[in-house]
Amino acid sequence: MQYLPDLTNRLHYQGIYPCPICRVGQIQGMPLMDALACEACRHIFVADLEQQLLKMTDRQPPLTWRWNGKNWVGAHLQGVEWGWMTWIFAAAFVILPTTLIGVAAYTFPPTPGSRLAWLPLAWTGLTFLLHFAVIVWLLMEFYQFPLRVYLRTRRRRLLRR
Ligand SMILES: [Zn+2]
Repeated sequence: MQYLPDLTNRLHYQGIYPCPICRVGQIQGMPLMDALACEACRHIFVADLEQQLLKMTDRQPPLTWRWNGKNWVGAHLQGVEWGWMTWIFAAAFVILPTTLIGVAAYTFPPTPGSRLAWLPLAWTGLTFLLHFAVIVWLLMEFYQFPLRVYLRTRRRRLLRR
């Protein structure tokens, strides 16, 4: 019996890999083309086999992932970094306004039993939620997590079962 080189851990056009976009489908080589496609979300990718890179070219700048033998890493826009400064900014963006409004509500409490007594607390909660949502949205944009494609494919899978 002849042993073939183990290709299973490398990225090549004959392999089958999890889809980095929808995370539920699988991508594999398209016949007669140097490209890979996902059976679930129908996105098309080109591979750089030497560097083990996968690129999704239908958006600018292109999205790039690197195959580490098990899964995709580094799914973010080329030339953009999400460093610790950004994390501090993100935390401040959520915490500061919430604290400010919370402190104001605490310092000037509404008359107990008045009709709008619930407002300062609700306002504080709303401030937190909205600022938090903005950060989550930015993170999803940055890591290119396609929520809509993901949910659509998930739902289709559930219905088919
Ligand atoms: Zn997919």
